Amino acid sequence: MEPLPLGPVLAAVAFAADKHRAQRRKDAEASPYINHPIAVADLLVNQGGIHDATVVCAAVLHDTIEDTETTAAELTAIFGASVTAVVLEVTDDKALHKQVRKQRQIEHAPKLSPEAKLVKLADKICNLRDLLDSPPHDWSLERKQAYFHWAARVVDGVRGTHPRLEALFDHLLSRQGELE
Ligand code: NDP
Ligand code: ZN
Repeated sequence: MEPLPLGPVLAAVAFAADKHRAQRRKDAEASPYINHPIAVADLLVNQGGIHDATVVCAAVLHDTIEDTETTAAELTAIFGASVTAVVLEVTDDKALHKQVRKQRQIEHAPKLSPEAKLVKLADKICNLRDLLDSPPHDWSLERKQAYFHWAARVVDGVRGTHPRLEALFDHLLSRQGELE
């Protein structure tokens, strides 16, 4: 297997760290936002065995367009059309109402490219992990359970992509009873 090229991956990490520099996660400690995209890429490489630089760079960059002022043109100029296309596939249209966006993720999941399915799956794994281990401080149990339920519906649409990561997701789902 080709080794994962470090140059583009580190460039993506540096770019995403700069773009997300003022953002924090929703956990009680308000962790740096960049911890999340790095965790998604780490999961794909070190638990998924994925060495495709397009997938790994897209994972690092997956929330830049959605959550910062980053444009697709900017990503294309630096990281190329393939990485940008995957990021766009996993980017919600923030002009839409939240419930519509959530429904769209369920409907679009089966239509995603294999690369985007991997990023989507890893993103949901990391967010379920966060809900179990470092949840938003102000979420009710019902809200966390609703997120688990919705994430399961999205992931149902990408099944058949990566059995090992899907098993990891299912294991996290089975821990839903640990939510408080
Ligand atoms: P949000 O979309 O507002 O928040 C979840 C997102 O926050 C994640 O997808 C993740 O996105 C990001 N995130 C940041 N920090 C964390 C963290 N520590 N743990 C997990 N995720 C984190 O959630 P929803 O509004 O979708 O709420 C979940 C469910 O609860 C929905 O189904 C909704 O219907 C229901 N609900 C919503 C209420 C509301 O007020 N909106 C009230 C009651 C129930 P990313 O990967 O992009 O960073
Ligand atoms: Zn994410």
